[in-house]
Amino acid sequence: MEVKGRVHSFETFGTVDGPGIRFIVFLKGCPLRCKYCHNRDAWSSEGARLFTPEEIVTEINKYRNFIDSSKGGITVSGGEPLMQPQFVKELFKKCREQGIHTALDTSGYAVLDEEVKAVLDHTDLVLLDLKQANAGRHKELTGVENGRIREFTKYLGDINKPVWIRYVLVPGYTDAEEDLEAAHEYLAGFKNIEKIEVLPYHTMGKEKWEKLNLVYPLEGVPTPTGEEVEKARSILTAGRGV
Ligand code: SF4
Repeated sequence: MEVKGRVHSFETFGTVDGPGIRFIVFLKGCPLRCKYCHNRDAWSSEGARLFTPEEIVTEINKYRNFIDSSKGGITVSGGEPLMQPQFVKELFKKCREQGIHTALDTSGYAVLDEEVKAVLDHTDLVLLDLKQANAGRHKELTGVENGRIREFTKYLGDINKPVWIRYVLVPGYTDAEEDLEAAHEYLAGFKNIEKIEVLPYHTMGKEKWEKLNLVYPLEGVPTPTGEEVEKARSILTAGRGV
């Protein structure tokens, strides 16, 4: 029987999650508990819609003109896509057979077993969300230790997988100079990183917490200024040219 994915939603014309125009599949389920989560309703698998890889490829093919002419592709995001490795592997395999570029948007919090490695075998680009380089503050921000993420990141380096790093700049949580310096130092060892993006924290996810009758943990935290974002970007990318 063909494996089915637990899907939260689709976005048909994504322009910020990988190169070109992307068909984005948001999957349900996430082991992290990020305080700034903009997809709070994706933590649990409850209410997921089920799709086979074939059904999703059929959907993507409706937009192939736009995707192909912009050198885009598919991005699987979440939640955490590596909670459904069999499904993502099958989906990416089918996409690649049809010449569709595959990107995986992940926190990297996954056990590096054969299934997860097989997903990476069919992945052209990893968008790796680096949350915090300091171990204690990582736990405080996301609810999980970062050891697994570090192992995952190292493996991406070992197999020379193209990676774009994404760092959400949250005032008071991820913007301390020493943390940015630590992140820079950590990333400096990886030659497979093609790009480092700093994403300013925003409150657009707040509404989802409220809809679920939950208290938004970052109430009152401001969006960083352009200057702060630029400063963080220059620390993280120093000496890399990316
Ligand atoms: S990894 Fe993403 S989906 Fe999961 S809690 Fe963090 S921000 Fe939300």
